[in-house]
Amino acid sequence: MTTIELKPSARPLADAEREAILADPGFGRHFTDHMVSVRWTEGRGWHDAELVPYAPLSIDPANMTLHYAQEIFEGLKAYRRPDGSVATFRPEANAARFRASARRMAMPEVPDELFVAACDALVKQDQAWVPAHGGESSLYLRPFMIATEVGLGVRPAKEYLFLVIASPAGAYFPGGVKPVSIWISEDRVRAVPGGVGDAKTGGNYAASLLAQAEAAQHGCAQVAYLDAVEHKWVEELGGMNLYFVYGNKIVTPTLTGSLLAGITRDSLLKVARDLGYESEESRVSLDQWRADTENGTLTEVFACGTAAVITPVGTVKTASGEWTQSGGEAGEVTMKLRGSLLDIQTGKAEDKHGWMHGIV
Ligand SMILES: *Cc1c(COP(=O)(O)O)cnc(C)c1O
Repeated sequence: MTTIELKPSARPLADAEREAILADPGFGRHFTDHMVSVRWTEGRGWHDAELVPYAPLSIDPANMTLHYAQEIFEGLKAYRRPDGSVATFRPEANAARFRASARRMAMPEVPDELFVAACDALVKQDQAWVPAHGGESSLYLRPFMIATEVGLGVRPAKEYLFLVIASPAGAYFPGGVKPVSIWISEDRVRAVPGGVGDAKTGGNYAASLLAQAEAAQHGCAQVAYLDAVEHKWVEELGGMNLYFVYGNKIVTPTLTGSLLAGITRDSLLKVARDLGYESEESRVSLDQWRADTENGTLTEVFACGTAAVITPVGTVKTASGEWTQSGGEAGEVTMKLRGSLLDIQTGKAEDKHGWMHGIV
């Protein structure tokens, strides 16, 4: 079932107003004219797939999501290519991860075909909202699923809503790429073995906000989390994976079950090899991070995720001291990888891995 009934808005935003938004979209502040909505009920499965005008949802106060947080989401981008066509980056990977998140949260899986068709239908309808080729701007897609059953019993709901909304996103670094400062949280954790850290669920973000506020008190923009058992192994940031650059080799923490398997992370393992670097997954301890920076073998550190693609790490602060990566500047390997991946995404470079999914 992948037929999405089109019920477009009779009153989309005027061209001039949309262009004014696209001139400075920011991130997650403006939404396009439409959304895709698909219902699931026990016994019937997925049905009523439709593209409708973007509008508020009407939710019963006893909606199960509001109380027990069965919610999962995804994030991917549609880019305008040099010839004016539009393509998304690895939507099948997002579809697969969405299914994995659904399984972990005891929610129904959206078939990959339906997931991709829903994203395609929205991008096609709202293609005027995809920023022009040239910069790093894109149309950010946010597929998500909530339970819609009403009741306070604690069990998996029997009704769900899968939605896709879209928001134009400006360049993450409008003034040029700037290294981010990182606070290492040595007491608070993001995820635990056997928990939900590898599911893209809203609760993981709720759990990260206090540590994020503490990072801000220490003058840092982001938090890096350590493993919950030994408080020793570096895991990731609240919404981005980490990479450590050792000369010609890039190393990212192994997916132990409490890390989110980033699609940017996975793509960079391959892009690095294309560029002649080595890439590997391995455990990295906080002590090693610090010692290898001091002895000069660890040359750069960066974070990666769909929103920023790659963010260099500048200052690193812990309760017991701080240090700086690559002189507080964006490193050379970091910037090469960033440029290479963005060139594939924006259609400037050849897509030899078949990652781009053309829509219009
Ligand atoms: C979404 C997310 C990432 C990055 O994943 P991408 O697929 O690269 O965008 C990393 N960590 C967490 C916790 C996330 O939620």
